[in-house]
Amino acid sequence: VTDFSRRRSAVFEALAAGSEADALLVTTPANVRYLCGFTGSNGWLLLTAGEAVLLTDPRYAEQAGAEVVDARVEVSGRGLVTLLGAVLPAIGPVRPAFEADHVTVALRGKLEAAGELDWTATSGLVEGVRCCKEAAEIAAVRAALQLTEGVLLEVAQKITPGQAETEIAGALEHACRRRGAARMAFDTIVAGGPRSALPHGVATSRIVGAGEPLMIDMGCVLDGYCSDITRMLWVGGTPDPAWIELHDVVDRARRAALEAVRPGVACREVDAAARSVIAAAGHANRFTHGTGHGVGLQVHEGPTVSSRSDDVLEAGMVVTIEPAVYVRGAHGIRIEDLVAVTEDGCDRLTALGTEPILRGIP
Ligand code: ZN
Ligand code: ZN
Repeated sequence: VTDFSRRRSAVFEALAAGSEADALLVTTPANVRYLCGFTGSNGWLLLTAGEAVLLTDPRYAEQAGAEVVDARVEVSGRGLVTLLGAVLPAIGPVRPAFEADHVTVALRGKLEAAGELDWTATSGLVEGVRCCKEAAEIAAVRAALQLTEGVLLEVAQKITPGQAETEIAGALEHACRRRGAARMAFDTIVAGGPRSALPHGVATSRIVGAGEPLMIDMGCVLDGYCSDITRMLWVGGTPDPAWIELHDVVDRARRAALEAVRPGVACREVDAAARSVIAAAGHANRFTHGTGHGVGLQVHEGPTVSSRSDDVLEAGMVVTIEPAVYVRGAHGIRIEDLVAVTEDGCDRLTALGTEPILRGIP
């Protein structure tokens, strides 16, 4: 059973520590879900010291009644701002805060026009609590990842030269749904040949040729939690030895980063561990993004594992380790694992090996 009251107390502590506010209007869907269980697309959670109120519209009345735990549900067809204005007076005088990372400038104007309240902007409060996962959340990420790994292996067996990237992406996505995924966590990346040098080469109509590398980066959502994995394939024939050598560099960078993961370590040190291996191989300028990111209810969440990050690893965090080398116009290699930070190191959630998946000519 999810302990929503623990989560709410942690958020309230963070609110009190960083501001004079005594109420928080949670509007980010993943945060609303995290704090009360509601999964609909239109719901705000108003948190005060003594109360939690979920505001939604009639489309979600039944769903909210079934999903929301330990919070009052208020439903109105006249819009959430109007509903908030009706609910607030009964709660008493509050100094409310809003989530500046999610509230638009237009919505802020409406909130301010709705009452005589002095709104405070907050950033990353709920996200900061979400960073450190409960055991059940780590298990949910692992389950989503296991599903994805099974799909990757199954579909990879059927990849042949002559298929379009979109056809392969479609097969991957269909297999995820067949195995019970609610949706994909992001647009599936299937990038063949020189397109593998694009860090975010989402599938196009390009035909995969024989004797080409192929990058697949995919993730799905299962029970609300995301997965994320990248593997390299070689389609048709034997891989180019120089490509294999580069793949080995990236894999050594992945291992170096993995070995650096433990509580108390700065995320930038983990990034540096991967980056130094790639730099030593002469590719310093070809690793153009950070080493990883948190994964949970959202596929990109805290902490950030990059050279500019101020985040420090804590037990319970779930992060990707995804070093890469991109050689423009030729090929790119990225290998992405998912790990959970433990008390004394990390637990690799990814079970699949990192060696290239080879697909010979049938
Ligand atoms: Zn990925
Ligand atoms: Zn990723």
